[in-house]
Amino acid sequence: MIVTRFAPSPNGPLHLGHAFSAIVAHDLAKARGGRFLLRIEDIDGERSRSELIAEFRADLAWLGLEWEEVPQQSSRLAVYAAAAERLRAQGLLYPCTCTRAQIAASARKIGPDGPLYAGTCKGRPPDPAMPAAWRLDVVEALRQTGALGWLDERAGPRAVRPEQLADVVLVRKDKSTPASYHLAVTLDDAADGVTLVTRGLDLFSATPIHRLLQELLGLPIPVWHHHPVLLGADGRKLAKRRGSPSLAALRQAGEDGRALADSLRAGRLPAGIAMGESLHIEP
Ligand code: GLU
Repeated sequence: MIVTRFAPSPNGPLHLGHAFSAIVAHDLAKARGGRFLLRIEDIDGERSRSELIAEFRADLAWLGLEWEEVPQQSSRLAVYAAAAERLRAQGLLYPCTCTRAQIAASARKIGPDGPLYAGTCKGRPPDPAMPAAWRLDVVEALRQTGALGWLDERAGPRAVRPEQLADVVLVRKDKSTPASYHLAVTLDDAADGVTLVTRGLDLFSATPIHRLLQELLGLPIPVWHHHPVLLGADGRKLAKRRGSPSLAALRQAGEDGRALADSLRAGRLPAGIAMGESLHIEP
């Protein structure tokens, strides 16, 4: 059975881009007699605002969607820690004490989320006085797994290419956010039985890392569906901080959520908003 999910982070209110993402995941599941899950990605202990969670549910109901809710990330910290321990025992993680500024200064490539880590701390004895994050040694990881591929429903078969990967953080320095997005989302999709990972093209470049983690941790391999991302008049992803209205504001202003959902389904977008099909969408 097909199982999709919408996995918002309660760091800010949902906007039209989130509505589109939820509708795509919902409709793909419902059209094939499957299940559509809502998972609250509240891994970021400092930025998560619990009062937004009830608002998210009200937004989805207003759009006319039906979902099943699965455990939120804050309840799964022990699972993430156990997986990190397993990878550490396999010799696949190394401690990194670099600051953000050091990473930016040493980066040779810029990835979708900023500068890609150049591997500065790899093989360097850690300074025990400094807080350390734990990074995945992707060269060693790929050596252990061998060549990997993955399938996106829209983009077709893809290969995991070593040059796309950087040594991402799996365990963060910040004790209020122990696991990184990459580790948590990969474990959660497996635990929730997600068979079709549906999300925006802005996360396309994260998928090779997730595919690698699945192989290392012996998890089932889903199919992916990276959908277009709604862009504002500036050509950038919609964002609350760039003035995109929240769904809550539209709902409270008396707009018809189901009609809005149908417009998004039909590709009728509000003035100034476009569908972005690029694989390299600026966050
Ligand atoms: N929680 C992520 C976000 O809000 C989405 C993660 C995903 O769909 O893989 O951007």
